Amino acid sequence: MKLATFSHAGSTRLGAIDGDEVVDLAAAVPALPHEMLGFLEAGPEALRAAHAALSGGPRLALGEVRLEAPLARPPKFLAVGLNYADHVAEAGLEVPKHPTIFNKQSTCVTGPRDAIHVPRVSHVLDYEGELGFVIGRRCRHVRREDAPDVIAGYLVVNDVTVRDWQLRTPTWTMGKSFDTHGPIGPWLVTPDELRDPHQLRLRTWVNGEPRQDSNTKELIFDCFQLVEHLSTAFTLEPGDLIATGTPSGVGITMKPPQLLKAGDVVRVGIEGIGELENPVVAEPGLAPEAAA
Ligand code: MG
Repeated sequence: MKLATFSHAGSTRLGAIDGDEVVDLAAAVPALPHEMLGFLEAGPEALRAAHAALSGGPRLALGEVRLEAPLARPPKFLAVGLNYADHVAEAGLEVPKHPTIFNKQSTCVTGPRDAIHVPRVSHVLDYEGELGFVIGRRCRHVRREDAPDVIAGYLVVNDVTVRDWQLRTPTWTMGKSFDTHGPIGPWLVTPDELRDPHQLRLRTWVNGEPRQDSNTKELIFDCFQLVEHLSTAFTLEPGDLIATGTPSGVGITMKPPQLLKAGDVVRVGIEGIGELENPVVAEPGLAPEAAA
């Protein structure tokens, strides 16, 4: 199932995508939680009820609704640096022995069609197309072979990065966490819809120009290894979001660097999941020419 959060006629609620329509789950099953975190916390029963509503529930055309971030505020938003060998090489670094985990602040989350801001303090703005996954149940010390059981679904993440702020300190949190720098979606795809999350083509375009073209089979630490690693140290909870890292082709490594600027449109697509498409605009309150 493709679980979406959408707004229509003044309310935001959950839906299930079917072709170019969305089944209005709130209308079909009023007892279901109306937001994703509550839905995930409700567990398999909620999922079963949503499935049952698919055939008979009221539908809206996708073009009539506004798609929101599937999860407005994940409890944790973790990300992995240097997790594709080609990206490690373009960064001039060595393949890491351990996953390089960092935080994005959950307030950076934004929708699959929403604007990315060029910050007031920096124009060194870059994209990172990534596969993300969301935890479905509270867990600790999960073995790799059991990891599929705790994953609620997969989505596309753009790990938008302010490169100068990222690299001027040993930890990356500031440069990774500006507001609007976490587009996610366009919906959450449950694992049964994907044959193998580690065999998916991943591509990024800027203004239609191809920038990244890889496959999740190239991940150094795959989703299941990441679950094992993270849960060794701390409890994972429903709604926790993990962005798995980006392949080669980020703007800063191009010659000359091709950074994002106001007026650009950045698109990230993953086979079997869907696409994010976000316009880039000056941070509000700033004269447009100052961010160009
Ligand atoms: Mg990244």
